[in-house]
Amino acid sequence: MTEHRDARQLGVCDPGQEPLARWLAERGYPAYRLRQIQTELYLRRVASWSDMQSLPKALRAELADAFALFTSRVVAQRTSADRTQKLLLELWDGARIECVLLPGRRRWSICISTQVGCAMGCVFCASGLQGVQRNLSSTEIVEQMAHLQRLLGVEERFSHIVVMGMGEPLANLDQLLPALDFARRDESFGIGTRRITISTVGLPAAIRRLARHTHHYHLAVSLHAPTDALRNELVPVNARIGLGPLLEAADEYFDVSGRRLTYEYVLLGGVNDQPVHARQLARLLRGRPALLNVIPYNPVQGLGYRTPDPLVLAQFRELLEAGGVQVQFRQKKGDTIDAACGQLRRAAGSG
Ligand code: SAH
Repeated sequence: MTEHRDARQLGVCDPGQEPLARWLAERGYPAYRLRQIQTELYLRRVASWSDMQSLPKALRAELADAFALFTSRVVAQRTSADRTQKLLLELWDGARIECVLLPGRRRWSICISTQVGCAMGCVFCASGLQGVQRNLSSTEIVEQMAHLQRLLGVEERFSHIVVMGMGEPLANLDQLLPALDFARRDESFGIGTRRITISTVGLPAAIRRLARHTHHYHLAVSLHAPTDALRNELVPVNARIGLGPLLEAADEYFDVSGRRLTYEYVLLGGVNDQPVHARQLARLLRGRPALLNVIPYNPVQGLGYRTPDPLVLAQFRELLEAGGVQVQFRQKKGDTIDAACGQLRRAAGSG
């Protein structure tokens, strides 16, 4: 268990670092103490202030009074057979969010949340069933990274971040960007820009803001339908956006960043998995520097959708490939532990 805060305290994972730097300076502590605290927290991954052995004892005690090591705490942890680990975190106000550690061939990725709940209303997603409660702070976003890193041995670290957990990241860029910019630094997690993916339902104004940001993170757009009529049904926010303006903003992001986009497509049996959809999708994406990531629907209790059968999946793939689209079928990870999208939170009875 990690030490976590009482309600008066500031979280030390604040990527701004100013309150901590100021606090140290006001008490006459040398500036290098800040770096030492970061090393203890993010590299040695201590669980409490008193474990920070490189700091004088008196300083540790003072810090423990003034700052919380974490403002969130782990309330449930699940591991699946494929080594995916999922954490349910309780925030200072009792709200609950999820984050996941995913094994790869020779790497670990983490999947983090940006909001409590979600306002986008995608009809097959567990996260948004009760709307959005609030945005996460940049401190709460960094804390997810720190909690997940602590699941690994000190000689190991995660190398990739996907912002694909609960919430719509582009509806909370003010808090997300400082957290991601901080995660790139050596004194925290040292994750290169190209190893960070932001997944979005596709909000054009926010995509343009990302294009203007100094660091061009990898962008994944959750498409799910090749026509406005179908997308309006599956991704209700599309009615206010439209595929045309969305793809225009996405193309601009490519022009500015030179980074190929990923389009995600959750296959819902009998809904968006027919040959006509594959052909329409191929027409839409052909000629765009894009990778299509097809994800079989992960069943959410109480929702009436189903995963397509393997034959339909294979046919869908063939039609896309024949249509000149570069396509990848994502293997499911962690589905035995409710690792997908707001499911653990629901299973734990708070979502
Ligand atoms: N709001 C962002 C990020 C969170 S959702 C977005 O829409 O991209 C991350 C991805 O998981 C999205 O592509 C989303 O459509 C997908 N997803 C949500 N529920 C799912 C389910 N039940 N099965 C499979 N994928 C799902």
